[in-house]
Amino acid sequence: MGLSRAATFPYSLNMFDSRLSLQTLRESIANRSISCREIAEFFWARIEKHNAAINAIVAIDPEIAIESAKDIDRRLANGEALPALAGLPISIKDILCTRQGTTTCGSKMLAKYQSPFDAHLVIRLYDSGAIVMGKTNLDEFAMGGSTENSIFGPSRNPWDNSRTCGGSSGGSAAAVAAGLSPASIGTDTGGSIRQPASFCGVCGIKPTYGRVSRYGLIAYGSSLDVAGAFAHTVEDLALVLTSIAGHDPRDSTCLPDPVPNYAEEIRQAPKNLRIGVVREHLEDNGLDNELREALHASIETYKRLGASIVDISLPHSKYCIPTYYIIAPCEASSNLSRYDGAHYGFRAEPDPKTTSASPLESMYENTRSQGFGAEVRRRILLGTYALSAGYYDAYYLKALKVRRLIRKDYDAAFEKVDVLLGPTTPRPAFRLGEKINDPVQLYLEDLFTVGANLAGIPALSIPIGQTRSGLPLGMQLQAPPLRESTLLAAGHWYQQQTGYVPSIPPAFAAS
Ligand code: GLN
Repeated sequence: MGLSRAATFPYSLNMFDSRLSLQTLRESIANRSISCREIAEFFWARIEKHNAAINAIVAIDPEIAIESAKDIDRRLANGEALPALAGLPISIKDILCTRQGTTTCGSKMLAKYQSPFDAHLVIRLYDSGAIVMGKTNLDEFAMGGSTENSIFGPSRNPWDNSRTCGGSSGGSAAAVAAGLSPASIGTDTGGSIRQPASFCGVCGIKPTYGRVSRYGLIAYGSSLDVAGAFAHTVEDLALVLTSIAGHDPRDSTCLPDPVPNYAEEIRQAPKNLRIGVVREHLEDNGLDNELREALHASIETYKRLGASIVDISLPHSKYCIPTYYIIAPCEASSNLSRYDGAHYGFRAEPDPKTTSASPLESMYENTRSQGFGAEVRRRILLGTYALSAGYYDAYYLKALKVRRLIRKDYDAAFEKVDVLLGPTTPRPAFRLGEKINDPVQLYLEDLFTVGANLAGIPALSIPIGQTRSGLPLGMQLQAPPLRESTLLAAGHWYQQQTGYVPSIPPAFAAS
């Protein structure tokens, strides 16, 4: 794996000028105006040219990708009926196990880890004919909101490279925004798909908890983690989700409910859509003014289209951040106890002159203090503290009770409305370095996203405009459990009616 192969490609970006959407590429493959090999080479050439500026993709094997694309071309030439994602390149967050190459989680702990198996969703992508092309950057073990906690260094926002692309799935969002990958797979424990999507001006979906198997998704917070997708359009998200969702007996929390063909379901414009505007989110004092204006304009758009707008309160939303930042670290501290230097991954030497610990204990201690970065260590400490005998009831158990109340708020809201509308983040992308030394400031950025994870409901972020200085602004839609069809239909409707899909940022427009 490495980023080094000279590629020549005769096509210009304009060839795919409906924002390199999967749908457009699919049609071009179907009508034979381009081969899958040419598409793979095209994206490889773009990665080679542009990735250094944003550090979105951290590993790629172009030879394997191009061979797989050629195989799809052969099947096409033989007249085979091909699956939904045949020949479409998709990059994958480096927290999902792939047999090909390493799966690092952005951590020194797993820097050399080679998974002996593919994650369930990776197998689903292969079965759907997708060309898995590149692993994307992330905060270490998905803890963070800026990719600044990655051993690979931060990814940069393609709209302004002094700013963050968000996180933890920031590499995926940046890769899609810059046109290096037409779609990407990320994971979302507290906003890691929606926040970077919003910062980079692309669409991102966090499905219902359990809709997509977690088998082969390296665990952060097991009751919150879910994999989802990034793309330029909601239509493309529907295409990818249809392929990756569904039951998997290897994940006991994976839902058995049948998977609709989301791409088909969203074709019909929603009828009598009731949209709840989350009062606490729109009236939040910290909300950026330009973002508030753009959200009001989106509400007006929906009104014009005939949706009814309802004022909704989620009274416990102010407890979302403290609740999440107890539950997620508790689960993380338990999940990450497996990295002890003995089973797999990085191992440090014991201190030769240790007197206070046995050599084995000293090895554990050194491995964990050298193998994990500062933020991961902080979360492990927070989690073990909140789970310890004297504090369990006061913190962890209390947080679980508040989580229940947060879910009840959503249940009550969804008796009145079909989807909830609000901001994805309080502000557009912040500057790299601006918050990394103040963890609490960074945690507060997750104010609007963590509720959906605590409640287990699906949520979507879509671009709704830009600030006057050119930074993307995002809107969040949330829906009841397993109502991805409604959620995607509401987002698709908006994109179709407004025609608003951000272009590739100017610095990345050249092929
Ligand atoms: N920013 C949040 C955190 O650091 C969410 C991360 C995520 O969704 N993986 O926990």
